[in-house]
Order: sequence, then structure tokens, then C-alpha cells
Amino acid sequence: MGLMMRGLASIARPIGRFLYPPVCAGCGGAVSEAAALCPACWRTMRFIERPYCEVLGLPFSFDLGRGFLSAEAIAEPPAFARLRAAVIYRDLASRLVASLKYSDRTDLVPLMAGWMARAGAELLDDAEVVVPVPLHSGRLFRRRFNQSAELARAIARRRRLDFAPTSLVRVRSTRSQVGLGPEERRTNVRGAFQVRPERDDAVRGRRVLLVDDVFTTGATVSAATRALKRAGAREVDVLVFARVASGGG
Ligand SMILES: [Zn+2]
Repeated sequence: MGLMMRGLASIARPIGRFLYPPVCAGCGGAVSEAAALCPACWRTMRFIERPYCEVLGLPFSFDLGRGFLSAEAIAEPPAFARLRAAVIYRDLASRLVASLKYSDRTDLVPLMAGWMARAGAELLDDAEVVVPVPLHSGRLFRRRFNQSAELARAIARRRRLDFAPTSLVRVRSTRSQVGLGPEERRTNVRGAFQVRPERDDAVRGRRVLLVDDVFTTGATVSAATRALKRAGAREVDVLVFARVASGGG
């Protein structure tokens, strides 16, 4: 636990230490190292560990042994091969996501990407290229940066993997998924993604790791996965920072 709490502090420390005393990414209280949580905030994070569904990364409440799948993964096998998430989407985890998305808290990226790289270690071992879920260009302009791309960039850099932030694009504007039911979400993002033909060499024939911040119903990453496969991706795994505790598909 101590090892994880340190995150990527060692990189930022030499310069940052004197300019900005390290504060907890959750509450702003004093901590000894940069890119860390204080013990009280740490206890509120629900890190996802085995046992979980090998396909959907959905935690099981008891251990059935390696290789078991959730009822959701059996009833409705996803387009992607495997999903892993660092934490359950609630409490502080959801506030960290909102801070990164709407407040441009890029200082959170090393911490969140560090936890994701740990949760997705097996996926990263197999990945050949890291691709973020893109924002629509209009939204990117308004919001200035794509939080999923920032997480994906940091993860690719840690593992020295190819990073392809411009291959997958949104070809039509979609409504925010917030407040939509599962079927509405699927309809909303159907056909929304495409790999740009002039950039498809980044994914063709390769094992792709698709990165997003949050997994709720899976409609977005499923639509993005299908677009990557249409462009010739050999296989697609998905790594997110946080996922809802139940559901899937
Ligand atoms: Zn704190």
C-alpha cells in the first residue's frame, strides 16, 4: 500500500518540492510526498483487486478461483477482450474524475495513471499501442483537453508503448451520456467513432489498449472497440480509471 501511495512522486520531487509543498490529491491536506493521498482519503478509495470477472473486471464478493466470468460477461459478451479498472466509481474516485475532466487538474494524471497501470499490468504486457477514447472536436475545443488522452499518454510513457491519440476520432457529435439509460447510451454512440483512414496503420493488425476515464454501461468503449476492429485492430483491451460496481455490457 505504501508503494502505491507514493505513485510517481519520485519524478516530480526534485523541482516541485520547494515550489509547492505536497498536498493530498483528495482533500488538499499536507502529505509527505507529491502525487499521493493522505491516509484518510486513501481509506475511502475502493481499489479493485482479484477476485474479479476476467472479462469485465467486475469484482466478485467471494473467490471462485481464477478464470471465472461474471453473469454479465456470459449473457452479453463485450466487443473488447478484457476490461480493467483501477477503482470503483464512487466517493473520492468520482470527484477525482470530475476534477480532471472539468477543472483541468492535470496534476492528478500521474496519480490516476499510476493506479491504472497497476490495475492493467497484464493488458499492458500484451498491448502494442495505446489509444484514448476521443472527445468530439467541438467539445475538445471548449474543454481544452481530453482527460482520457492525458491518462493514456502517461500510461504509454510509463510502459514505453506507442501512443496514437489521433487515429480514433468521433465522426459525429454525441450527447453527453450522463442521465441516459443503457439502451439510450448505445443508440447515442452507435457509429460515433471511426479510425481515420490515413492513420489506420497505428492500429491495423495490432493489439490495442483503449483508455477511458470511466466505465458505466460500456456503450462508449464498445462503440470505440468496434471502430478499431473495423480498421483492422487484432484485439482490443480496455483500461479505465474507475468503473461502476455493477452492471456492464
Ligand atoms: Zn486527503
